[in-house]
Amino acid sequence: MPELPEVQTIVNGLNQKILGKEIKKIIELRPGTVFWQNPVTSLGNINYISRRGKYILIQTSKDFKLVIHLRMTGKLIFETDLTKTSDHVRAELVFNDNTKLIFDDVRTFGEIQILKINEEIEAFQKLGVEPLSDEFDSQYLKNKLKNRKAPIKSILLDQRIISGLGNIYVAEILFRSKIDPRIPGNRLKKKQLESIVSEIKTVLQEAIKHNGTTISDYRSVEDKTGEFQNFLKVYRKEYCECGHQIKKIKQAGRSTYYCPVCQK
Ligand SMILES: [Zn+2]
Repeated sequence: MPELPEVQTIVNGLNQKILGKEIKKIIELRPGTVFWQNPVTSLGNINYISRRGKYILIQTSKDFKLVIHLRMTGKLIFETDLTKTSDHVRAELVFNDNTKLIFDDVRTFGEIQILKINEEIEAFQKLGVEPLSDEFDSQYLKNKLKNRKAPIKSILLDQRIISGLGNIYVAEILFRSKIDPRIPGNRLKKKQLESIVSEIKTVLQEAIKHNGTTISDYRSVEDKTGEFQNFLKVYRKEYCECGHQIKKIKQAGRSTYYCPVCQK
């Protein structure tokens, strides 16, 4: 699933490729992909593209916005040849200059919602802090972890606490912080919280610099893979840098990779 760095890479690509373009039409090729909250005759030109958590926001000059979530396998591919398509195309945004953006999604969990600029989707009200913002610091994390007995790994995945982290980056962040993913949130010391916050910011920024991580489906707007998979230290690894065997366990139904020697 695309996490914050992959979604940010896509947003950066969209800003290069489709900012300013006029949306001619949106074609839904698989029902249940595009949700129109209002009747719309014309969306206008794209004038702002941004990210919130794992959501992509595309604002238009006629005061509408497209809210896109890629879920498991969604991809947005920019195409200059209108006759070209992709294997699992679900919808297309066609622009006035005869270019288009293909929404391809094997698993079909992704969606595009079209709202008025001042309408908010419900999920947004519950989204936690942006981890790359100044608002996210060790004091914020300390407040959120008070009385939380859940393992730190599950807490970091909770989008209501921090938005944008997923299974791969949480594994890398906890490895770099040398913290056991099973430790209850409320047992972490100040130094450990500071380390987690600092590693979250570092890992995310490094991953954005390398255009995200491609394990299977993720592609950029230019249909290219990311490169951060070459820098992973623990996720799906057999040995850590020190030569210890990486352990794989299940936490809340999801795989956790960690080094039982380096992470305490
Ligand atoms: Zn180790």
